[in-house]
Amino acid sequence: MKNSLLKTDEIGVFALGGLGEVGKNLYVLEISNQIFLLDCGIMFPDAHLLGIDYVLPDFTYLEENKERIVGLFITHGHEDHIGGIPYLLRKVNIPKIYASGFAVSLIKAKLGEFTDIKMPKIENYESHSKYYFKDVEVSFVRLNHSIPDMHGIAFKTPLGYIFHTGDFKIDLTPVGPGAEYHKLTKMGEEGMLLVLSDSTNAERDETIQSERAIGESINDLFYNIKGRIIIATFASNIYRMQQIIDASILSNRQVAVIGRSMENAIEIGLQSGYIKAPKDIFVKPEDINRIPPERLTILSTGSQGEPLAALSRIAAGSHRFIKAIPGDTVIFSSSPIPGNQEPINRTINALFRIGADVITHGPLADTHTSGHGNQFDLKLLLSLTKPKFFIPVHGEHRMLKFHRDLAISVGVDPQNILIMDNGDVAAVSKDKIRLAGRVQADDVYVDGTGIGDISNNIIRERKMLSDDGMFAVIITVDNQNRKIIGDPTIISRGFIYMKGNEALTDALANDTKEFVTNVFNNKNLISESEFKTKLSDYLTDKIYDITQRKPMIIPVIRNFNTTDL
Ligand SMILES: [Zn+2]
Ligand SMILES: [Zn+2]
Repeated sequence: MKNSLLKTDEIGVFALGGLGEVGKNLYVLEISNQIFLLDCGIMFPDAHLLGIDYVLPDFTYLEENKERIVGLFITHGHEDHIGGIPYLLRKVNIPKIYASGFAVSLIKAKLGEFTDIKMPKIENYESHSKYYFKDVEVSFVRLNHSIPDMHGIAFKTPLGYIFHTGDFKIDLTPVGPGAEYHKLTKMGEEGMLLVLSDSTNAERDETIQSERAIGESINDLFYNIKGRIIIATFASNIYRMQQIIDASILSNRQVAVIGRSMENAIEIGLQSGYIKAPKDIFVKPEDINRIPPERLTILSTGSQGEPLAALSRIAAGSHRFIKAIPGDTVIFSSSPIPGNQEPINRTINALFRIGADVITHGPLADTHTSGHGNQFDLKLLLSLTKPKFFIPVHGEHRMLKFHRDLAISVGVDPQNILIMDNGDVAAVSKDKIRLAGRVQADDVYVDGTGIGDISNNIIRERKMLSDDGMFAVIITVDNQNRKIIGDPTIISRGFIYMKGNEALTDALANDTKEFVTNVFNNKNLISESEFKTKLSDYLTDKIYDITQRKPMIIPVIRNFNTTDL
């Protein structure tokens, strides 16, 4: 089957995730009727998706066109780029996954947790590797990010190069190997058809520190702190964890690792050689009380104030092994992800209350830097690669817009830039880029073991329940004689506390009784569902008048013999 949206010789480019959001990146290239997949991530839901564990890309299009998929190419091992792989493999067979170094270790560890999935073929590419398909040569460009082995991926096509940057920043003094900027220039000279580039920090024009500078700043901090150090960072930032281990060695401290995701990351890092540390540097959490405070670093999850993470539990005094004490210094080696400031503040306040000192990233202490390039970096990448066409990716709509302006400022023709949503299909030819149509690209929610069985309606109901609670009214009717039997029973949860509000519930019970009697007195017959809707609407208005709240109303009608009242 062909993609009917594309003309012969046109290349199709679209996203099933990653546009209009930071997360669940999955980009699709269709070249000479072959489907190339780029990354397959998950997204962590924000607070309005109540009870949802993850959000996945919609794989429907890939299921419908699975015979044309030639491979999945992974830029790097962050969850928003690899987290969706097990779920994708359950739906479609991927001939081969191409990933590099540390990403391979992380993918294998992840797939090991899904016993129902057969391990796919994984090709461990290096930055000089090349793979050949019909009309396409795939090659790689090492770039710098907050995790080892991040590569941009280039597709050499009959129309020119298509280059997907992955997540990157320009870091001239990186931790780990340097970036291959010369390859970018070379592709630019040979003819760059299209660039898809990381938009995460397209709004930021301030300098983004080199990873190495943060290492030095952490060394200074550790040197000057006398008591115990509790330091929280992202479990995805392998370089930072290494720097914290190095600073601990320099300041003669042992390291306790707390929190499951951090323990996993350290484990995989040590096994694959991406984290280097002498074995005896680590101390088990249950043994930390044997170590003098000035000889101990506690490396912890919870830098975003996540309520169940180790640091939040330490701050709340509910951690199994670790109690914060006066004299402790807690360092946030992270910056708040937008929306997380409030839980972080709660954690910081709790720590201060205990008598701990708290250091966050700011003008006084460089404890964190972003893994994503600022405006300068993004403009430099576009200037080196000189693309004819440009699609900003990996970002919320606002970030994509900012990135578009940056591209225009370095000379990309505004008509050659497309800002797209997930599912929008761009058709690219030698001298034109056009929106050709759409493919299905909804959000798919994972809730516990259920995948895709949670709809937007359920999210809306959860939202309603969490805002205003629920109000159930149970009535028994004798529909032969068209009358209500007894008084309605009212149950409320999360709306009003029943005890002490008897006057209100009595009034609502009476109103319900009156309403039902009126319906019976009316000669017109109505169906049960129509009846329930009317009763809900009636009670919604009544309750809103009295309380200004809109709980979910659940009418339950018992003792029905026929469907008509
Ligand atoms: Zn990343
Ligand atoms: Zn990312």
